[in-house]
Amino acid sequence: MLQDTYSRRFTYLRLSITESCNFRCDYCLPDGPDCLSRRGEITLPEIRRVVTAFAKLGTRKIRLTGGEPCLRKDLCEIIEVCKSIPGIEEVALTTNGYRLQRDLNDWVAAGLDAVNVSVDSLDPATFHLITGQNKLPEILEGIDMAAASPLKRVKVNTVLLQGHNGGELAQFLEYIRDRRVALRFIELMQTGDNEQYYQRHHISGQSIKDKLLDADWTLQQKSQTAGPAQEFSHPDYQGKLGLIMPYSKDFCADCNRLRVSSKGQLFMCLFTEHHNDIREFLQSDDVEPLMQHLQSVIKGKDATHFLHQQFTGSTKNLAMIGG
Ligand code: SAM
Ligand code: SF4
Repeated sequence: MLQDTYSRRFTYLRLSITESCNFRCDYCLPDGPDCLSRRGEITLPEIRRVVTAFAKLGTRKIRLTGGEPCLRKDLCEIIEVCKSIPGIEEVALTTNGYRLQRDLNDWVAAGLDAVNVSVDSLDPATFHLITGQNKLPEILEGIDMAAASPLKRVKVNTVLLQGHNGGELAQFLEYIRDRRVALRFIELMQTGDNEQYYQRHHISGQSIKDKLLDADWTLQQKSQTAGPAQEFSHPDYQGKLGLIMPYSKDFCADCNRLRVSSKGQLFMCLFTEHHNDIREFLQSDDVEPLMQHLQSVIKGKDATHFLHQQFTGSTKNLAMIGG
């Protein structure tokens, strides 16, 4: 088992398979990806080895992320390999939805279990302003296709952005009235590159929580293995609503996830100063040395991030490690 000194167990790996992206979300990659972002991406055999080592140490769920994971031409093979590793019960994908309509069936056939799609506005003009892409209708159709597919779960991620989608709560609620999707509002996090943007656009999730409670949404009890979202439900709505509030007290207390970047670096937290290069361990099929290394470095995981003190570590943007 991977367990840190605070008795937190790590059963969930977020694996970034590329830093590159075809969107230019203004809080993440406003100038697009670095031209070297695709150099030295983790290969399929390296992915098999890293996931094997994590699975032997108790990891049960893999989330493939990026950058934009669907830019990888071998995405189906990556899904297949992850799903085939003994111990891995669930393979999920976080995507901007660009290739959802075209590739969903192939991903499902490869073994994908769940998908999270990012949609920061339901207004096409605002969506274009935030992402630099005019693809909202296609992405929404892709989400409906996914909801009707054999996938176990479809979630929509929405970063709360003052001045962009801050006034769209009613539209988002309407969106989930008759749809079985889980919408997640995520508080904007400060990263190395977006300090001024953060000051202008951050909205506290607490203001949304107060509105939901006023409108008779009920906060659900969390299961022990649940992620960081506070989940709300309402009898008049088929969809669920979640709030991810990384600045709230105790957000890190039940952290169950570790991250590996597309360059083969282990990140103990999204906002860590130092990553741990594990690439050398990925060159051999013998995963024992990597397992020993992971068990040793996990003891150095901090109790919490230091975002409250505006300390964002070495994380310039979340495309580097997948959010
Ligand atoms: N490209 C894919 C996507 O957008 O879904 C996957 C990678 S993206 C980095 C993963 C998630 O992180 C997205 O939902 C995105 O909106 C979110 N994200 C990126 N930067 C963020 C920030 N500064 N604060 C909060 N969420 C952020
Ligand atoms: Fe790309 Fe996702 Fe970052 Fe948007 S949030 S720029 S889609 S990596």
